Amino acid sequence: AKARGKNTFHFFSADLNEAANERLLIENQLREAIREHQFLLYYQPKIDIRDNSIIGYETLLRWLRPDNTLVPPLRFIPVAESTGLIVQIGEWIIWEACRFLSRQHSRGHNVSLSINLSVRQFRDDNLPEIVDRIMKRTGANPANIIFEITESMLMGDTDAAINQLNQLKRLGVSLSIDDFGTGYSSLSYLKRFPVDELKIDRSFVKDIPDDSNDMDIVAAIIAMAQKMNLRVVAEGVETVEQVEFLRKNACYYVQGYYFSMPLAEQELNRLNYVINS
Ligand code: C2E
Ligand code: CA
Ligand code: CA
Ligand code: CA
Repeated sequence: AKARGKNTFHFFSADLNEAANERLLIENQLREAIREHQFLLYYQPKIDIRDNSIIGYETLLRWLRPDNTLVPPLRFIPVAESTGLIVQIGEWIIWEACRFLSRQHSRGHNVSLSINLSVRQFRDDNLPEIVDRIMKRTGANPANIIFEITESMLMGDTDAAINQLNQLKRLGVSLSIDDFGTGYSSLSYLKRFPVDELKIDRSFVKDIPDDSNDMDIVAAIIAMAQKMNLRVVAEGVETVEQVEFLRKNACYYVQGYYFSMPLAEQELNRLNYVINS
């Protein structure tokens, strides 16, 4: 038993070392990525299925390595978050997003833009001031900006969260609860947060129309959002059956591969959609 315990220990410590090394490697590469401007934003259209028009975009972070590999955000955001590098990267995202909005506006496209916030960014006391400064410098209209915050970020110190949400709202931006349904918020809980929109997580959408449980959950979220006067958006919509289910349940705003993958700015400018303005 002793020998086995020892082996187990070795096994774990080797594993932990490997994980720690991997983290350190990514951390160093992230610092370099910031210095060398290796980040870029992709934009996924948000569609109104009543007329298939683009009402806005969600900005999604990409890391383009010097060897031309594109690293998906879930591979590096956790490290960026735990090292605090996300605050710097997050500020760059807001700058870049606001500049995008201004460019779209000068093309005559009065679209909205959803920006994902990380936990650290959201909890930063300076965030409202940073956002305000960037909007003023870029001329981006706050009415066109939506910040996406996950349910889990609202847990814990809810008073601090509500305070931060109110400060952001005062700037004129909108707020959205991302990955809705995956956390633990109850109705009464939700009512306390000054938010404008709920985004139904892809995990509830992906098995429509095969999973009747998921269909019940999605229908319930949509009904609840309507009762609370919140806009509701479904993410991860990939099939026409899913579009039809959402339409039947009066959820008209969707994102997903069925309409478009996230695109680089040049690609989306070539898209031939009718734009609401
Ligand atoms: P999220 O905010 O829930 O974003 C939706 C993810 O689903 C994106 O993955 C998007 O590319 C993907 N997606 C969209 N439509 C479909 C579809 O029809 N099918 C499938 N299978 N996937 C679809 P992505 O870009 O890899 O981002 C993953 C997560 O990384 C995001 O989840 C978000 O939590 C985080 N993230 C992305 N960009 C940023 C950012 O700028 N800042 C922060 N803090 N987090 C970000
Ligand atoms: Ca999101
Ligand atoms: Ca999601
Ligand atoms: Ca998310």
